[in-house]
Amino acid sequence: MTWLIVPGTLLLASLLFLLFKRRPPALCPRCRKPGLQTALRIPAPGAKGKSYWSYHRCPACAAKLRCKDDEWTDAPDEEWDRMNLPK
Ligand SMILES: [Zn+2]
Repeated sequence: MTWLIVPGTLLLASLLFLLFKRRPPALCPRCRKPGLQTALRIPAPGAKGKSYWSYHRCPACAAKLRCKDDEWTDAPDEEWDRMNLPK
């Protein structure tokens, strides 16, 4: 199984690298503290990979947030559950 783990780790490492290279440490749009966690990132329906919707939660203020086209809104609990995101 080692042959699977090595490319998997490399892929994960490069994904993380891209993520951190493109985005400075994420600040929570509510409390402005760093450490915002990304729970999910999905291509926006109908946008063909150009834009993404993402779901985030802030460990500092426990906000559940949604980012669509760079616009931050609160993610309703019902939507959070529907997307099967960690509580
Ligand atoms: Zn916050």
